[in-house]
Amino acid sequence: MNSHHCSVEECSEPSVARGLCWKHYGRRRRHGSVDVTKRRYRMPPECRFCGTAEPGAFYPSYKSVCKQCRKVQAIQREEMRVDALVDSAARR
Ligand SMILES: [Zn+2]
Ligand SMILES: [Zn+2]
Repeated sequence: MNSHHCSVEECSEPSVARGLCWKHYGRRRRHGSVDVTKRRYRMPPECRFCGTAEPGAFYPSYKSVCKQCRKVQAIQREEMRVDALVDSAARR
């Protein structure tokens, strides 16, 4: 009889408890999930420009760019906008 197998897909271990093998049963008891290996961890914030990972260097709602680089970005955007205005004014 082969029906008592771990209910986790891709797992062919015999089930020992609640339809799970020892490995997955233990995993579920410990972590609340059988696929803990696939669980996503919350990535710590890291600036994609300067690479800083200091917790205080980020705005709470903006985790991929630090405050400093965000400021630089904003200034650059502003300068580009001014350049474009000057450009279009000069062409008149
Ligand atoms: Zn299993
Ligand atoms: Zn940065």
